Amino acid sequence: MKPHIVVFSGAGISAESGIKTFRDNDGLWENHSIHEVATPEAWQKNPELVLEFYNVRREQVLNSKPNAAHLAITELQNHFEVNVITQNIDNLHEQANNKNILHLHGEITKARSTANPNLIYNLGGPKISLGDTCELGSQLRPHIVWFGEAVPMIVPATEIIEKANIVIVVGSSLVVYPAAGLLEYAPIDSKIYVIDPSGEVSVPTQHKNITFINEKASLGLPKLAQKLIEEYA
Ligand code: NAD
Repeated sequence: MKPHIVVFSGAGISAESGIKTFRDNDGLWENHSIHEVATPEAWQKNPELVLEFYNVRREQVLNSKPNAAHLAITELQNHFEVNVITQNIDNLHEQANNKNILHLHGEITKARSTANPNLIYNLGGPKISLGDTCELGSQLRPHIVWFGEAVPMIVPATEIIEKANIVIVVGSSLVVYPAAGLLEYAPIDSKIYVIDPSGEVSVPTQHKNITFINEKASLGLPKLAQKLIEEYA
């Protein structure tokens, strides 16, 4: 039987598309402390700075292209049932035509109402400004899960990973919770591959069947995809 594959991606898969991770940058995200720009407190204190920070990130995402790692997932999807659970807020999985994508931490190309979290809008352009409002008249904010906020998509993500035969972790330091805790839900007989050039990722799970591939995503993921296709497709 063909394996059901779950790809669990983090900021590192987009690094070679020119979008910086923050662990590789002394815990700063594009020169900002995450507390300054990616928390509810930051939004209360200085919404203009928060909006501007995400406006710049959004512009960068809109000018970025997927790399060989994103495209390798499309290739895997030609052969297997594959779900993508991503911690990334960029849209490079979508740009690569990946399917079955779940964004745990939101999407930078969307805005949402500060009055009703279920009012979510596709943004036509790169900017949200102070004074841009939802249909209820409330300020729009980035559709992002900030540090310290609940992660509503964690429950559907858990249900997906519980069905995996193979989990491919790519480009994640696995230190941001509850996302990293998802690995605990992978079946005990599933196989886990971890693609990360640092060689420093520690996987928070009891699993014994873990293979570390200490390579950049654009090399490691296409090679692994090829191997899985030869082995199982
Ligand atoms: P992280 O920044 O904590 O860790 C990035 C990991 O990627 C590191 O382990 C690093 O060694 C690895 N890496 C660096 N270059 C790589 C490459 N070329 N190929 C493969 N791996 C590489 O990222 P995280 O674990 O995703 O957690 C950070 C949080 O920050 C996420 O929740 C996300 O929402 C947010 N974030 C998102 C983006 C994005 O959307 N692209 C960018 C920065 C931060």
